[in-house]
Amino acid sequence: MPRIPPKDGVRRSPLQDNPVVGHKRVLLAAPRGYCAGVDRAVVAVERALERYGAPVYVRKQIVHNIHVVTELEARGAIFVDEVDEVPEGAHVVFSAHGVSPMVVSEASDRGLHAIDATCPLVTKVHREAVRFARDDYEILLIGHDGHEEVEGTAGHAPDRVTIVNSPDEADSVHVNDPSRVVWLSQTTLSVDETMETVRRLRARFPELQDPPSDDICYATQNRQVAIKKVAREADLVIVVGSANSSNSVRLVEVALEHGAKAAYRVDYADEVRQEWLDGVATVGVTSGASVPEVLVRQVLTDLAAAGYGEVEEVRTAEEDLVFSLPKELRQDTTGRRGGRVRS
Ligand code: SF4
Repeated sequence: MPRIPPKDGVRRSPLQDNPVVGHKRVLLAAPRGYCAGVDRAVVAVERALERYGAPVYVRKQIVHNIHVVTELEARGAIFVDEVDEVPEGAHVVFSAHGVSPMVVSEASDRGLHAIDATCPLVTKVHREAVRFARDDYEILLIGHDGHEEVEGTAGHAPDRVTIVNSPDEADSVHVNDPSRVVWLSQTTLSVDETMETVRRLRARFPELQDPPSDDICYATQNRQVAIKKVAREADLVIVVGSANSSNSVRLVEVALEHGAKAAYRVDYADEVRQEWLDGVATVGVTSGASVPEVLVRQVLTDLAAAGYGEVEEVRTAEEDLVFSLPKELRQDTTGRRGGRVRS
């Protein structure tokens, strides 16, 4: 069950005030939390439940956050691994991470009513893969083997894609024709590590082509820039996000690489351990792109109970992007929040 504050507000923080040399404060990174693609995907499931009634099936976790998934399950969403688990003729939502054409065709073969909540920024990478494959390029896809997004993107050009998991793999990956090779990437990687992978690929393949525009999305980049600034001054960084959330895990790594003395990821506030605060004056807080703000607020409430009541927001970018809903649901044409709307 989700561990959000009870409605009567009565919840005791498990954290205690502790003596610290220095001024106790929280630096709260911004932007943090929900991105436009996650917002759209979650609203898509909510709208599908309203319109078609429960159950609505969702292939894979709609977004990588356990709280969001648990809440949607309570409202009638059923999460499955593959479309063959969905009864024929039912409604199924494809997650924000995207699917390969094979999944789309399997859903069609079963007579499913599919609602595609793939983030438009993932779809952009799919289109790049299709185009470069058609133009006879070998595609080096930088990303984590086994991640749903990587499987979906690779599935758009299965004969042309080789996955490169890390900078070290750049030193050994094989290509048939080094004069016709391009790199693409997963949207939620560490910018710095990806650039290191590209540098090492280019050292081996000087004619390596870049993607037409950044594949690492605006939300991933903005959250990394913000936590870098916070980490420089933080004794401890707490990242709210789930273990299978790539961009949340990257935020922990980026914080450690940019000066945080310690950094931990938690799903819920009650996972913050008392001993993490020993000797800590400044706590940095952020959250991954699939994390509702209520979970961050709970961490701040508990930190306040431990004496870290002073909160300073460190903002490095403004975000107002909103994606329109999947076309299958587009009776009312916009997502939930105000801002620039893109299809
Ligand atoms: Fe889209 Fe980026 Fe959000 Fe992923 S993290 S859903 S690519 S905006």
